Amino acid sequence: MKTLEAIKKELGEYEGKNIKIMEVCGTHTSSIFKNGIRSLISPRIQLISGPGCPVCVTASSYIDRLVEYSLKDNHCVLTFGDMMKVKGHKLSLTEAKATGGNVKILYSPLSAVKIAIKSPETQFIFAAVGFETTAPIYALMIEEIIKNNIKNLKLMTSIKTIIPAISYICENEKNIDAFLCPGHVSVIIGSSVYTDMALKYRKPFVIGGFEGGHIIAAIYEIIRQISNNEYSMKNMYQSAVSPEGNQKAKSLIDKYFEAADDYWRGIGIIKNSGLRLRTEYRDFDAGSTIFEDADAAPSGCKCADVILGRITPAQCPLFGKACTPLNAVGACMVSSEGACGIWYRNCEV
Ligand code: SF4
Repeated sequence: MKTLEAIKKELGEYEGKNIKIMEVCGTHTSSIFKNGIRSLISPRIQLISGPGCPVCVTASSYIDRLVEYSLKDNHCVLTFGDMMKVKGHKLSLTEAKATGGNVKILYSPLSAVKIAIKSPETQFIFAAVGFETTAPIYALMIEEIIKNNIKNLKLMTSIKTIIPAISYICENEKNIDAFLCPGHVSVIIGSSVYTDMALKYRKPFVIGGFEGGHIIAAIYEIIRQISNNEYSMKNMYQSAVSPEGNQKAKSLIDKYFEAADDYWRGIGIIKNSGLRLRTEYRDFDAGSTIFEDADAAPSGCKCADVILGRITPAQCPLFGKACTPLNAVGACMVSSEGACGIWYRNCEV
């Protein structure tokens, strides 16, 4: 078995064909910077971000709806901090709050239940944004709402599922050679879902952990497969990811949510790529639908190209100039999981 040092040396000296690896989740993007992975590997191996930031792919029209609710009498929007600065068509939730909107930041979704119990005269709207990782918590929230007979808390959902988005990229973006699969989502959905994808799209799908050594080992496996003309799913994060995933979490999701077509900012509508509350639980829904943006991204913003792995954030002409975390033009600069924000915080601009 090769040592990590030997693997690093081989990756640094790699002279094969140029390879583009998409790391789907922002936590991997952060760890790649934190561990200086790019400086350890050959420039022929390009690491590029993908669509795994939920805030980045949420439609502006969804934010618009939350803003409307926040400005309505006796209404209050509950959200995670990441959503506050993302622009709707006119206002962000931060701006709505500054103009009198009622918006509260939560650190745990289940605290929404306590808040709603304390203020029965207020109608609370919870911004349920995320992927398969947060969907089970939202399902638990519905359980609590039912258990406590709460009438003044509803969810506005924008919950996405990652596999349809990766499939979309495989079908439409031919320049991606391999995937470093999202670690946290894979804990829930399991590793076996990638097996058929690797065969269908003839690309390596490797699941890796978040430590520097984990990522190096996953990249090495991808390069090994490509060099040997192989393409398969390889789970290198077995301590957390099982073939079938977290059955309990999957059952909870399945009990309360069903697959629905959904809109991804910068991409468009992807079939069955969202989770919507099942009909029998629609009383707890604040009007979720396919929130679709008819208009283009802000002038000059290349978020769509970043999300689809066509360019790195630094290749956007606005990066670090007109667009910074303090004055974000696109959603990818706002969220802690957004590729542009991660690149900005870690690059010398
Ligand atoms: Fe959009 Fe800003 Fe990223 Fe450019 S740097 S793609 S404007 S978020």
